[in-house]
Amino acid sequence: MIRTRGLSYRYATDGTAPLRFPDVDLRQGGTLLLRGRSGSGKSTWLSLIAGLRGASGGDLFVAGTQLGTQRGAEMDAWRARSIGFLPQKLHLSSALTVADNLVLVYFAAGLPRDDAAITRALAQVGVAELAARKPHQLSGGQAQRVALARAVLLAPQLLLADEPTASLDDEAAADALALLQQSAAACDASLVIATHDQRVVQALAGVQQLNLNEIGAQRLLDKREQL
Ligand code: ADP
Ligand code: MG
Repeated sequence: MIRTRGLSYRYATDGTAPLRFPDVDLRQGGTLLLRGRSGSGKSTWLSLIAGLRGASGGDLFVAGTQLGTQRGAEMDAWRARSIGFLPQKLHLSSALTVADNLVLVYFAAGLPRDDAAITRALAQVGVAELAARKPHQLSGGQAQRVALARAVLLAPQLLLADEPTASLDDEAAADALALLQQSAAACDASLVIATHDQRVVQALAGVQQLNLNEIGAQRLLDKREQL
C-alpha cells in the first residue's frame, strides 16, 4: 500500500520551487499508473516511495511503514525486504553472473542465500538458462527480465517499475508489461508503473492513475513567478 499526504521534494542543488505531488492512496495489491511527461517528477516520486530520498515535506506511508523516522541502516533493511525496484537503468553488476547478481539481494537484506529461490525466480521470468551469463551477454529485454527477477526475489509488498517499456519494441513492451503484472500478482505486491509511453497508458486503461503533468505545470508557474 501507499498513502501520501502533501508530499514534496526539493533538489538541494536546484534553486527552483519544490516538486509538489498530489496525494495518493493505493491499496495493497493494487496497481498504479504513474504518468507524466519527461521531467515531471516520476523518478523522483518513485525514489521517495522507495525511501531512497527523504521527502522535503509531507507524510508518506509505504507497506505499512511511515517513512522518515528510520535511520539509514534501518531504512536499507526495510527497503531490501519490502520494496522491489525495477529501475530504468538496471544496475546489474557487470563483474558478476546473472545468478550472483541475485545473490546480492540476500546480502543486502542480511539473509542467507537461497540458490533454489534464485533458480525459481529466473525461471518465472523465462531466463533460467541465462543464470551463468554475465550482463554484457544479455539482450536488453533479457537484462530487464533478470532485473525483474531480482526485484521480486524476496516477495516484496510493493513493486516499482520506472519506464519499463522505454527501449522496447511493441511486442517486447507488451511482454514486459504482462510479466510485471504477473510478477506482482505472484507475491500479492502492489505495482507502480511509471511511464510516458502511450502504449502502456492504452494497455492499462482503467487502472488507477497519478498524472504528474499538472505538477510540472505548477512548477513552471512557480519558476516564472520567481523571475
Ligand atoms: P521524470 O522521471 O518524470 O522524467 P524526474 O523525477 O527525473 O522526472 O525529474 C523531475 C525534475 O527534477 C526535473 O525537472 C529534473 O530536471 C529535476 N531533477 C531530477 N534529478 C535531479 C537532480 N539530481 N538534481 C537536480 N534536479 C533534478
Ligand atoms: Mg524518470
